[in-house]
Amino acid sequence: MNLLSDDALLWSWIALAVLVFPVLFLVSAPYGRHLRTGWGPTLRSDLGWIIQESPSFLIMAVYLTRWLRQRTDKLLKLGFDEREWMTVTLAFCWLVHYANRAFVFPLRMRGGSKPTTFTVVSTAILFCVINTYLNAKALFVYELVIRSRRSLDWAFCSGLLLWVCGLIGNWHSDAITRALRRNPEEIKEKRYAIPYGGLYRYVSAPNYFSEFVEWTGFAIAAQTWAAFSFALWTFSNLYPRARSNHQWYLENFAEYKSLNRNAFFPNP
Ligand code: NDP
Repeated sequence: MNLLSDDALLWSWIALAVLVFPVLFLVSAPYGRHLRTGWGPTLRSDLGWIIQESPSFLIMAVYLTRWLRQRTDKLLKLGFDEREWMTVTLAFCWLVHYANRAFVFPLRMRGGSKPTTFTVVSTAILFCVINTYLNAKALFVYELVIRSRRSLDWAFCSGLLLWVCGLIGNWHSDAITRALRRNPEEIKEKRYAIPYGGLYRYVSAPNYFSEFVEWTGFAIAAQTWAAFSFALWTFSNLYPRARSNHQWYLENFAEYKSLNRNAFFPNP
């Protein structure tokens, strides 16, 4: 594909993120606590996560490896310049996030035998493929960081710092919910409990909020429209679901209201 068709894909992708946002307030994706019948065949959710998220890891890894191979001679003689380091660092951030999401997170799930729907898995695959394709091309084919930046700058450093904070918040929040199912009986029954601690003090879905912080940081660091489209999609996907999760806690735990949590944005 050339720049023109990639541009058309990117702007349609951004438009779709805006269109999907109101729809997700009406229809929650049928997995996890919002799993329900009527959405077609199902498969184990841990397997579903691996299948749907691994394209994000693999596509970025392929583009990075190809790019590094093309530069082997230069690298051996001169090493990376600052903008090449920035490009590789962004790809590294991507790979760290998706190594966790595609492989570590599903293998550590407590209740991974719970079904998810093929509908969710196939739409997530489509999302991962398009999103990673756009971001990998921006970094390694159009080399937007190398061409448009002069050197390491404040946008890159502050964005990277925000990305790290988001990653820590996301991993920590996922660890808190994972620890809620402590014994084989709770795991077998996929029992739910109220999570406490960390950012759960302030919001019902700190994993989602932190994930949004992560990709906002990435977008600030990368300064590409592809990266901004990912931050937008993350918000579009996760804000409505955070609201649904918040409502679900209110309906399922009588004491939840007294905890005074927001759904998505912390208000300490
Ligand atoms: P959830 O927090 O709904 O679930 C994560 C895991 O924790 C599941 O195994 C779930 O079990 C379990 N869990 C959640 N709440 C409780 C509870 N109260 N008691 C016991 N167990 C609980 O997150 P998602 O599955 O929606 O998302 C997982 C990760 O993927 C998150 O970090 C999220 O940020 C990320 N994500 C990113 C998206 C993006 O667009 N960038 C889109 C979707 C997710 P069960 O499966 O039984 O509910």
